[in-house]
Amino acid sequence: MKTVKNFTDRVNECECCGKQDLKGTYLLVDEFNNEFYYGSTCAFKKHGADKKELANANFKFEAAKSCVYAFARRNKLGILSFENFNEMLDYCIKNNGLMNYKK
Ligand SMILES: [Zn+2]
Repeated sequence: MKTVKNFTDRVNECECCGKQDLKGTYLLVDEFNNEFYYGSTCAFKKHGADKKELANANFKFEAAKSCVYAFARRNKLGILSFENFNEMLDYCIKNNGLMNYKK
């Protein structure tokens, strides 16, 4: 049984069907915390994620981006490089926040 954890625009290929050039993918996790990146069609039709879960994931992704900017401001990191931003965003998406993120 997989649950939807988040959405990300950093992975653009569906691991389920191999479809590429997606706007983004949904990060699903199973009971062993294995991670899967699926496009919306596969997440919805093949893995039973409901539309509310998917919408919620999109919302969380936007929140994660805001979270990274806020973290950078709080810690006076100045302008983040693109790599920094993406690394922090990936962390935030997988861990639901930057609580234990090491600068
Ligand atoms: Zn797919």
